[in-house]
Amino acid sequence: MNKPVPTAIDHLAALTGYRDRDLLDVTLAHALMDLLTPRGVAVYKLVGDEGDQRWLLRARLDSGQPTAVSDPPWVGFEALPPREELGHLDEGLRTQTVISVSAGDEEADEAVTTTVFPLVAEGDALGVVEVQSSEKLTAGMKRTVCSILRIYRNFHGLLDYSERDTLTGLLNRKTFDEAFLKTAHEGAASLSESGDDRRHGGVGPVKHWLGVVDIDHFKQVNDRFGHLIGDEVLLLVARILRSTFRFQDRLYRFGGEEFVVLLRCSDEADAAHAFERLRSNMEAYVFPQAGHVTASIGFTQVLPTDAPSGAFERADRAVYYAKQNGRNRVCGHEALVREGKLHLDDKVGDVELF
Ligand code: GH3
Ligand code: MG
Ligand code: MG
Repeated sequence: MNKPVPTAIDHLAALTGYRDRDLLDVTLAHALMDLLTPRGVAVYKLVGDEGDQRWLLRARLDSGQPTAVSDPPWVGFEALPPREELGHLDEGLRTQTVISVSAGDEEADEAVTTTVFPLVAEGDALGVVEVQSSEKLTAGMKRTVCSILRIYRNFHGLLDYSERDTLTGLLNRKTFDEAFLKTAHEGAASLSESGDDRRHGGVGPVKHWLGVVDIDHFKQVNDRFGHLIGDEVLLLVARILRSTFRFQDRLYRFGGEEFVVLLRCSDEADAAHAFERLRSNMEAYVFPQAGHVTASIGFTQVLPTDAPSGAFERADRAVYYAKQNGRNRVCGHEALVREGKLHLDDKVGDVELF
């Protein structure tokens, strides 16, 4: 007779079977749900900058519910609960220990035990897993959760290793195409799902913009101060990028001194404003050795029909225009076309812009 495969092993196989972080969090919730059969499981991540961090719901499953719910990718930051507001999650994360809180459930008039486990990656706090159960979790159950979370953490580390640039920690070029195609279709999804009960933060249909950021005269930085100082500048530019953009925006180092931003924004003026903020943050920053270093930025709207290379090429042409016209400036491809400063040539002519 065949022995049934232990479900824990099935779940480990599932957990390590995806390279998509969204699916990873959903799979984690399913695994804990099946292994503990609690009332509910939720996976939260902390997003935002120090001083203003908020909880993003990555996956919630309640017993009897077949599919997980989550905050949509376009949720507004302000719509998320602040870190301090969900005190039990914060405590679970800060103490780095498992805590239990008992609270009466008004509707079911039955006590609910909430157990919070920290989700930690590479020593940094990342988020929490919240398990709600009718009974207190046994020591064995807690051990099971901790083992699953260790595997989750290791796998997360492996994903980071393969998807992130080692110098800056930004995403590497390898992962761009897949994320781009997902992004290009997200706007349409935001329309079709606007009737559900998930948190939206009051935002309408979402548009995306692709920006290419190229450091000005970076060769001179290397020539004057050496390659190590050049690397330090790249690292600090990555930091400026992170502090300039929002948590949903995707930041890439495309190689050398070129960075790419996939930005979620409602209109062209807002996108131009965001890239302008990056330009001025770069200009204002005093690099420890190199002093002032600027960047030229080109951007374009991501269209549902776009191939990653097509959109990139448009933004790159706008960067080229910025370089030809004084550097340290932001140029939007569509605006340049409207103003007659750029012409749609054969290479980008197969994409309908307006
Ligand atoms: P422009 O304003 O026209 O962009 O001039 P630039 O000097 O920035 O552009 P160019 O493409 O001529 O040179 C890019 C330089 O970036 C060449 C190379 O020395 C440097 N570079 C590329 N990758 C790295 C890296 O990983 N570390 C360091 N320190 N330098 C790099
Ligand atoms: Mg370059
Ligand atoms: Mg350059």
